[in-house]
Order: sequence, then structure tokens, then C-alpha cells
Amino acid sequence: MYKLERHKHCKISDRLNDGRCNWNWKEIPTTTEQLRELHMLTNGVNTFQLVAQSDRWVCNLSSDGLFYVNVLRTQIDWRNMMPREVSIKWTHEVPVKINCFIWRAKFDRLPTAHALTRRGIQLMSALCPYCELEEQDTTHALFQCPLASKVWEYVGHWCNIPHLHFQSAEEMVKYLGVIGSLKNKEQHHPD
Ligand SMILES: [Zn+2]
Repeated sequence: MYKLERHKHCKISDRLNDGRCNWNWKEIPTTTEQLRELHMLTNGVNTFQLVAQSDRWVCNLSSDGLFYVNVLRTQIDWRNMMPREVSIKWTHEVPVKINCFIWRAKFDRLPTAHALTRRGIQLMSALCPYCELEEQDTTHALFQCPLASKVWEYVGHWCNIPHLHFQSAEEMVKYLGVIGSLKNKEQHHPD
């Protein structure tokens, strides 16, 4: 984002005004990495309230505003875990990163075109870049897009599970929950 900024010495107040972002990029962010960073940046500044005083560095992870490595380490560890305020069936059948991805899908935290647009990020198009038939939201990207359907078909074939297809992240989570509980009871006998 810093590389794309047109005026490197601009003030925060030049870019944030009444909760709105006034970006001034040398070129519109378009790559996946740029959009991901822009998404994080927009999310990060959404809660900012500007006050009439000089800019200064404050670490909001600690109560005294100072930066401590151990506090940051604790935060990183915590963020890598599932948030506590929302429960989701933890499925031991799949890797942790997949559980995290499923959690993000269920609570619509994936940086889809729909999510980015909703956060005020300007995209060339909000349509799914693969089929260009519908807006790319989580449900479309993971379940409804013809490409996604094809991937599910292959996965079902590899896992010997016929007709493996979900309509939503919610449905997928329920399915994984059932698989997990069946496994726990040792009643699951895959063909
Ligand atoms: Zn699509």
C-alpha cells in the first residue's frame, strides 16, 4: 500500500476524513495481494477517530500504549485460534488452517469481491472472475460457481463420497459436524 501511495509524506488526516478513506494511489490496487492488503487496511482504519493533536505511535495491544514483543506474541497466538465469541464445531478430521478457513467462510470473513465492495474498496468488477455470471460472494465462490461445483465433484470422487455438494458454508459446517461426531462415536465406516 505504501508503494502505491502517491504522496509518501501525507498525513493520516489527508487519507481519513469523517470515517471515510480518501485514498490517492499511483495506480488502483488490482492484484490479489494488493486487494488483500487494502482490505486489511480499510478494516484497520474503520474504527479510527481522529483527534486534533500531532500524530504519534501508540500500541493499542497494551494498556500503557507501549510496544512489547511478548504482548504481540500473545496476540498472534490468540488470533491464530478460533475466536471465543462465536462457536463452531471443531473438526479434528481436517487441518487447523482448514478449520480457520471454514470459520471465515461461515461468518463471511473471506475477502470476496462482494465483501471488498461492501467495505468501500473499488474493484473493476464485483462479478466472479471465473464465470462472470454472478457477483462473487462467499456462497458463490465456494459453492455456486460452476468452477466450485467442479472442484466439489472432484473432491467427492477422490473421497468416494457421491454427490458431495453444499449450498452454503452453514450446510458444509453442519456436514463436517456430523462427520466429526460420527467419528468420535466410532460409528463412521467410510466405504
Ligand atoms: Zn463464478
